[in-house]
Amino acid sequence: MKYISTRGSGKILNSAQAIISGIAEDGGLFVPAEIPKVSLDFISQLKGLSYEERAKRVLQCFLTDYTREEIEDCVTRAYGNGKFDSVKVAPLTIFDDVSVLELWHGPTSAFKDMALQLLPQLMRTALKKTGEKSQVLILVATSGDTGKAALEGFKDTEQIKILVFYPEGGVSQIQRLQMLTQQGSNVSVMAVRGNFDDAQSGVKEIFGNKEFNKVLCQENVKLSSANSINWGRLVPQIVYYFSAYADLLDAGRIQPGEKINFTVPTGNFGDILAGFYAKCMGLPVHKLICASNANNVLTDFLRTGIYDRKREFYKTVSPSMDILISSNLERLLYHMTQDTAMVDGWMRALGKTGRYEVGDAIRTKIQEIFWSDWANDATTKQEIKKVYMEKKYVLDTHTSVAWKVAESYQKQTCDQHPMVIISTASPYKFNESVLQALDVKTEGMDVFALLDKLSEYNTSKVPRGLDFLRTAKVQHTGICDKKQMQQEVASFSKK
Ligand SMILES: *Cc1c(COP(=O)(O)O)cnc(C)c1O
Repeated sequence: MKYISTRGSGKILNSAQAIISGIAEDGGLFVPAEIPKVSLDFISQLKGLSYEERAKRVLQCFLTDYTREEIEDCVTRAYGNGKFDSVKVAPLTIFDDVSVLELWHGPTSAFKDMALQLLPQLMRTALKKTGEKSQVLILVATSGDTGKAALEGFKDTEQIKILVFYPEGGVSQIQRLQMLTQQGSNVSVMAVRGNFDDAQSGVKEIFGNKEFNKVLCQENVKLSSANSINWGRLVPQIVYYFSAYADLLDAGRIQPGEKINFTVPTGNFGDILAGFYAKCMGLPVHKLICASNANNVLTDFLRTGIYDRKREFYKTVSPSMDILISSNLERLLYHMTQDTAMVDGWMRALGKTGRYEVGDAIRTKIQEIFWSDWANDATTKQEIKKVYMEKKYVLDTHTSVAWKVAESYQKQTCDQHPMVIISTASPYKFNESVLQALDVKTEGMDVFALLDKLSEYNTSKVPRGLDFLRTAKVQHTGICDKKQMQQEVASFSKK
């Protein structure tokens, strides 16, 4: 399978090369030149299989330059070996009226693990396959979830090192502890004096500094990124859409070929885009419902065809969805138009003016597949309480946004197709907001008291990775100014 850039120029690569490159030379994102199709038989045969087995079959459709053995090895290292606290990896909890696909049973208790456990394996294998001899240094700027998930995924991976920058005081206490206690021989974590934008623009400047990259190159080091524009982070996410469908078949809830809906709590548009690829491959999906929080730039886009990032930025109780530029939308625009010049034009307009408009024809085409709504913080919290009262099931703040939007969709459209809600974080990870939603007073409680309190409501136990923080040793104490970040990269690359 060949991969091309959404912006038209740049080389045509195979998947190993696309995964090493991350982003295309022309600034575009790699997309498969053609989306592979599967039969209903292929889907029915996923019944009764383990998640690993399902993953192998789906990944083979896209990673055609990887051997069966290579894919099997990658998948086993990512999802086997007890790294996930559910043998099902991505279990589906089925209620009478709705099902919940729980994507947070991995080591960091958020859905980023689904992709960031596999990406390092795909990258390590790609380096071997392509004969690349350089050391790869992964740089990450994080506002919380991605940094920890990337550290866990890349720790102790051959030929690859990882350095994570986070804004001092800009992440939650639990996220900070998760990162500072990270073990592994090839990892480093550094606080940056400033906010997330400082950390992020610092990393971007380092990637863009040709001089500095040349020096690194002479030392046999190549920089790369683990963020969600890498094809190797997107492709693992296609698997769980198939897995949810197979679980519904297993449970006798649907017949082969019957269409279902998914509602996805959305930020950078990676998760829901994976659902789009699954649908294009032949998974019987009726609608993909995009759920936003108060940063509802995607809801507006999907309704009007106008993308406009010039608006107020809100800090919400669902921080992992606080995003105004959803990078992966670029891939959808390519598949909707097959017109790289058009996509290039829109992305230039977005960079220059903060806005672009796709026009009626394309908007209508997108609306045949997608629907969108949003929920504010008050509604999100009410929904946590309501679902708990009705089902004794505790949602995190991101999943709650999706739950609310799924209800709005069903009410407004009267669509009766079975609904799967994508659940992206363990409630333990956003414990304070969740407890407040359940009317618990949280003043004066530290993170561990909050975890204990929440376990009185939640039937699932405090996840291992969070419990471990009570006694874990801090490994990383470094802090720097934005202008010292490059120096930190230089000295870590020599270690
Ligand atoms: C990253 C994240 C999201 C958003 O996913 P995208 O792929 O960026 O749309 C939603 N919920 C949680 C908990 C996340 O960590």
